[in-house]
Formats: sequence, C-alpha cells, structure tokens
Amino acid sequence: MSTNFEFIDIKRIEPETKPISARKVDFGEIYETQNIDSVKEQSSRCLDCGNPYCEWKCPLHNYIPDWLKLAQEGSIQEAADLCHETNSFPEICGRICPQEKLCEGACTLNTGYEAVTIGQIEKYITDKALADGWKPKKYVENFSTKTVSIIGAGPAGLACAENLIRRGVKCTVYDKYPEIGGLLTYGIPEFKLEKNIVLKRREILEELGVKFVLNYEVDEKKMNEIEKNSDAVFLGLGTYESIKGDIEGQDKEGVVEALPYLIRNTEYLMSEDDAESINFKDKKVVVLGGGDTAMDCVRTAVRQQAKSVHCVYRRDKKNMPGSVKEINHAMEEGVNFLFNSQPLEIKGNGKVKQLKIGETKLGKADTSGRRKPILVEGSEKLLEIDKLVIAFGYQADPQSFIAENNIKVSGRGLISLDNKNFKYQTSNPKFFAGGDMIIGSSLAVHAIAHGRDAAKEIIKFLQI
Ligand SMILES: Cc1cc2nc3c(=O)[nH]c(=O)nc-3n(C[C@H](O)[C@H](O)[C@H](O)COP(=O)(O)OP(=O)(O)OC[C@H]3O[C@@H](n4cnc5c(N)ncnc54)[C@H](O)[C@@H]3O)c2cc1C
Ligand code: SF4
Repeated sequence: MSTNFEFIDIKRIEPETKPISARKVDFGEIYETQNIDSVKEQSSRCLDCGNPYCEWKCPLHNYIPDWLKLAQEGSIQEAADLCHETNSFPEICGRICPQEKLCEGACTLNTGYEAVTIGQIEKYITDKALADGWKPKKYVENFSTKTVSIIGAGPAGLACAENLIRRGVKCTVYDKYPEIGGLLTYGIPEFKLEKNIVLKRREILEELGVKFVLNYEVDEKKMNEIEKNSDAVFLGLGTYESIKGDIEGQDKEGVVEALPYLIRNTEYLMSEDDAESINFKDKKVVVLGGGDTAMDCVRTAVRQQAKSVHCVYRRDKKNMPGSVKEINHAMEEGVNFLFNSQPLEIKGNGKVKQLKIGETKLGKADTSGRRKPILVEGSEKLLEIDKLVIAFGYQADPQSFIAENNIKVSGRGLISLDNKNFKYQTSNPKFFAGGDMIIGSSLAVHAIAHGRDAAKEIIKFLQI
C-alpha cells in the first residue's frame, strides 16, 4: 500500500543508457527500455502534493500526479488516455523536453530527494499503450462541414490537426518535406528521438482522418487556392533563418550551418534518396554555440567518427541555454567543452585551418538577465580545425504569402497575434498561427501547446 513516503527509501533511478562505446557509433536512442516494475516503483515516489508545481511548470499543464498514480497501479491504458487529455504527443515530450527546467525542475522532491522521473514515465506510458494497440479516442464521432487547412507538419501544426480531428473538424496538413514532424524529424537527431516514433503518429493521425499533402511547398499561388477552399487556416511554419555570428572568415570552405548539417545527416540515415551525409569522419570538428542545436551537432560529429570534437561557448556551463541532460550526454560521449571562449577569427587559405579564440569572463547581466561575456585581452589562442559548425540558433524570416494575406509581423519577423477576438488569431481573422513562428526558436512542448489551444479557438471562431 502506498504511504506517500516511498521517496525516502526509493531513490530516483533513470533507465539505463547504452554503453558509451555503443553510443559513440550508433545513431539510435541512448536509453534502454524500462520495465513495468521500475515504472511502478518510480511512479510511487510522487508525493501527490496538494498543489502540484510540476503541473504548473509543464507548458501543457499535464495531470502529472494523476497519471503517475495510474502508472503506479499498472493501469497504463487509462494513464495514456489521461496523458492525451492535455498532450498530443506525450511520448515525444517525454523524450525531448528539458525536464530539469520544466516539470521535474518544479518537483517538490528536489528539496533533497531528487525529482520523480516524470519525462521517462510519460514516455513509457504512451510507448507501452501504443505497442499494445491503444489509440487516442475521438471526442466527437461525426465530422462538421467546416474544413481547416494547416501549413506546416511540425509539432504546432500536428497538435492543431490532432485536436481538430478528435473534435470532428476535417483538416488537411501541407508540408514541403516528404515526411511529417518538422524539426522533430529533420532537426532533432535519432539519438534523442527515433524517427519511427514520429512516423507512428502519422499512421494514427491518418487513421483518425487527417489528410497530409507532403512534398508540397506552399507559395503565394498555392496559398490563395488553399485559403479559398478552407474555413480557417493555421500556420505553423517554424523559424529557419540562421543567426550568423559575423566571425571573420566564416565564408571559408569547411564552415557549415547547423541545420543543413543535421538535416543532411537525417536524410542520409532515412535513406530518402542517394543522399551523402555531410560526413566528419576523421576530422577535427569545432561547433560554436551552447544550445540544444549545438549539442545535437557535437553528438552527431562524435557518431560520424570525427577525430576530435570541441564545443566553443562564450559563457560557463551554468549559463548554457541547452538542456543540462543533453550537455552531460555530450560530455559522457567525449565532447571537449571550451567554456568562456569566444570565437574571434576563422583562419585558413580559402579552407578552414585554425580557429582563433579568446578567453572571456562574465560581466554584469544584460537586458536578457544573462551575464555578458567580456573578452580578456591578450588571451587569444589558436585551435587546429578541419570543420566548423555554426550553431547560434534561428530567427524568423516571414514568407511572402504572409504579407500577401495581410498578416502582421513584429519587428523580429514573428507573427503578431494582436487580434483580440480569439487567441492565436492573426490580423487576418481567417488565419491562426503558433509554434516557433510566434515566439521565436523555442521548444516542441510550447509548439504543441499553441497548436492545441489554437485548435480550440478555431472551433469557437467557426462556431461549430
Ligand atoms: C537541432 C534542433 C534541436 C532541437 N532540440 C529540441 C529538444 O531537444 N527539445 C525541444 O523541445 N525542442 C527542441 N528543438 C526545438 C523544436 O524542434 C522546435 O521548437 C519545434 O519543432 C517548433 O515547432 P513548429 O511546429 O513551430 O516548427 P517546425 O518544427 O520548424 O515545423 C515547421 C514546418 O513547416 C514547414 N514549412 C515551412 N514553410 C513551409 C511552406 N512554405 N510550405 C510547406 N511547408 C512549410 C516546414 O517544412 C516544417 O516541417 C530543437 C530544434 C533544433 C533546430
Ligand atoms: S510535457 Fe514536458 S514538461 Fe510537461 S510533463 Fe511532459 S516532459 Fe514534463
């Protein structure tokens, strides 16, 4: 019988990871599968606090203590039903959310006992339920006569589609890529999220009635057609304009941007064509940046058998924007971190050969609240390199059909949601938007939350 004090005797145990030697050559996910006994045991550590901070900190406000209780009882299908009340893709969030900054960071047990393994249990529940043939339930059996078009099959667009279809609204999702998922498929590498997990969602969504039109890049002409034939349109186009560092010499051969590098590697692994990956085998690789994208690049280079992999970052480990979990994984896999190091110049005769870096110390906090790195004079040194990846993040670059449809954007190129009638509605009432394109490069869980909420607003707008 549960006493609510299990956390004293039962320690937080995460699922085992594969041996480092295997991880360094394998692109598959690094965690071993959990068994039901350990899931029950770890779930029993939940205190079931009266005011669950984890729920508040989760952007989807998942009913965490409630599904942990069901998992503890072994009621996995009921737990999956409950997970899907608030989250369209729990198995994806369980894998890729930076839990230490979200749900687990707010767990009461952090006061000396270590958080419940919320993400890993969320992943187990849905993986197991789906493997046993469980499917998300529809709220409404009959379809309304209204139709919604969704541009972008990333997590924002997919979550919008999932919510609409389960509520009886027909929808078609358009994407320029041959597969669904957006950055879940083409940005985030397999070692964090295996592609079959996302592809399983395509099967489920299609079975529920969602139509996908893939390999279809929407331009002004196609947008006009789509708009005419839809009662509402949801845009989830993401942000794809890479932030340049303005480092001297960054146009040299051997410098690549993070996303094309990761996308090419994924396409190669998915064998969509005779794709060659951008391969760093036996190369001395340096990645600039400290976010999730940078971590994905260094860990991809390790798996490509690079000779050495360095991550150069201007601040210290504590101030890195990426998930601590992923930074630690990169360290375990042999990535060398050069903290407090500022890239100054890429040297080489047409081709990269050396990177000049300087040491930094952290000054006062700037307007973003983060301490500003200040270069220490005379600290410059040279690193020998063959390849350099720039991973400074992405910003919005609105496509031409946005202005064409009178949709307002902010100075940063993000879609303005200044229409007060419905949340997520743009200045053109027929168009709604969500995900990275309204808040800038962020997290999948935020995109899912926007897509879900926008679907409910679209239903109100259509008066269904
Ligand atoms: C390398 C990398 C690693 C990341 N790691 C994590 C992580 O560990 N955890 C996490 O939570 N988040 C992570 N993120 C962030 C996360 O992937 C994004 O926040 C999320 O995918 C945004 O979802 P979205 O639906 O707004 O956009 P996207 O996922 O970018 O999807 C947009 C879709 O729109 C399509 N599209 C755009 N224009 C058109 C057009 N004209 N016609 C047709 N289709 C179009 C694109 O092809 C794409 O499929 C990472 C991002 C990157 C780049
Ligand atoms: S969706 Fe993300 S933040 Fe919310 S409970 Fe799951 S892992 Fe935690």
